[in-house]
Amino acid sequence: MGIEQVQVVIAGAGPVGSVAAAYLAQHGIKVLLCEQGNDAAQDLRASTFHAPTLEMLDQIGVTEKLIEIGLKAPVYHWRDRKSGEIFSFDLTEISDIARYPYRLQCEQYHLAKMLADRLEALDNATVLFEHRVVDVEQDETGVSVALEHMTGIKHVRCQYLIGADGANSIVRKWMGIDFDGFTYPEKFLCLSTEFPVESKIPDLALVNYISDSDEWLVLLRVPSLWRVLVPALEDETDEYLLSDEKKTKVFDGIVGDGAGIETQHRTIYRVHQRVAKQFRVGRVALIGDAAHLNNPLGGFGMNSGIHDAYNLCEKLVAVLKGEASEDVLDLYDRQRRTVTHAFTQQQTLANMEMMRAGQDEAHRQRVESMRALANDPEKRREFLMRQAMFSSLADAAAIV
Ligand SMILES: Cc1cc2nc3c(=O)[nH]c(=O)nc-3n(C[C@H](O)[C@H](O)[C@H](O)COP(=O)(O)OP(=O)(O)OC[C@H]3O[C@@H](n4cnc5c(N)ncnc54)[C@H](O)[C@@H]3O)c2cc1C
Repeated sequence: MGIEQVQVVIAGAGPVGSVAAAYLAQHGIKVLLCEQGNDAAQDLRASTFHAPTLEMLDQIGVTEKLIEIGLKAPVYHWRDRKSGEIFSFDLTEISDIARYPYRLQCEQYHLAKMLADRLEALDNATVLFEHRVVDVEQDETGVSVALEHMTGIKHVRCQYLIGADGANSIVRKWMGIDFDGFTYPEKFLCLSTEFPVESKIPDLALVNYISDSDEWLVLLRVPSLWRVLVPALEDETDEYLLSDEKKTKVFDGIVGDGAGIETQHRTIYRVHQRVAKQFRVGRVALIGDAAHLNNPLGGFGMNSGIHDAYNLCEKLVAVLKGEASEDVLDLYDRQRRTVTHAFTQQQTLANMEMMRAGQDEAHRQRVESMRALANDPEKRREFLMRQAMFSSLADAAAIV
């Protein structure tokens, strides 16, 4: 049997790889999307789509469907738990810039699943589940990729390979690219419940960053659930974190009667801040979590990965159609790697510092700086543009 030939192989059918495959297929490129899992993973991690991401996704025809499934959150809150003071940020204030002036609350797997189904219906796209990239070799004319499946190894030859295979990317490892940064010492616990938390907390927004001198948490609504994200103490074991005792303690602090709350999911996450040293080596490029990781405060991981996918694929289409030289792929690396360092990493680190500022004087200063930000129209607009990720896209576009 001959070796299958395609123009682009994409490793990983998470939200980012699926978007890249859909974009390329829509532009007439022959693509193969391969995924080690047996379906688009029912992944609960990302729940926020930012405004410019929704504009990009509209180009591949999925935004309206996501809006049908998801919840529009034009307003998000930063709340001082003890005093009850709320600082409100309203994205309709930037509706002169944002076509979708809200955060869309919708679990990431809806996007990956929707795109995989659409790709399967196209002649120039193939989706292979239960096919794991195990080997990558490139030469001057292309890339050879070996895919392990249940009964053997499938060999594919392509002109370009995109590694969208997540945090443990084997594509990144085959390329020998360092993944510098650090792993937070504390783990993060995410609990979800169908309980109507809004019935216990007045004026709750759909997205809430809540803190006081001792603790912080993120409280987010997705269509059918409330999700709570809390940091774990370093000495708390996984067994304890997943226990009813911990669940009760967390919800005691939120709704008062934690023992009465039933949860639908309890998940522990390790969180990292890491950036690949290169986003492109020859005919191989990295996008999404394969290229960078950050804490979830602000909802930037998947969104920035989709921004990578668009940036790269736009250039790749031009190269494959003979309209641009391969050098343009270096520009992908420069633009996206620069904003990953300058924006995504910096902003998520700052968001984490803001949440865990600490006690007494540190907490007073935190409240003071949020108040100053929320009450200054110019600073507030700049903050909204930054947190909605418009600024980082403009910064990337300015790099030549
Ligand atoms: C608690 C939490 C909340 C978050 N909330 C948000 C949010 O609201 N907004 C946001 O933007 N981001 C958020 N993130 C981050 C977001 O989940 C990730 O950035 C996003 O999932 C990255 O997508 P990806 O497609 O690059 O990688 P992944 O989603 O990890 O997908 C990679 C895919 O590659 C497959 N794969 C791996 N290895 C191979 C192989 N060798 N061969 C074939 N397939 C392979 C995997 O099975 C997987 O399906 C959150 C993260 C956490 C932990």
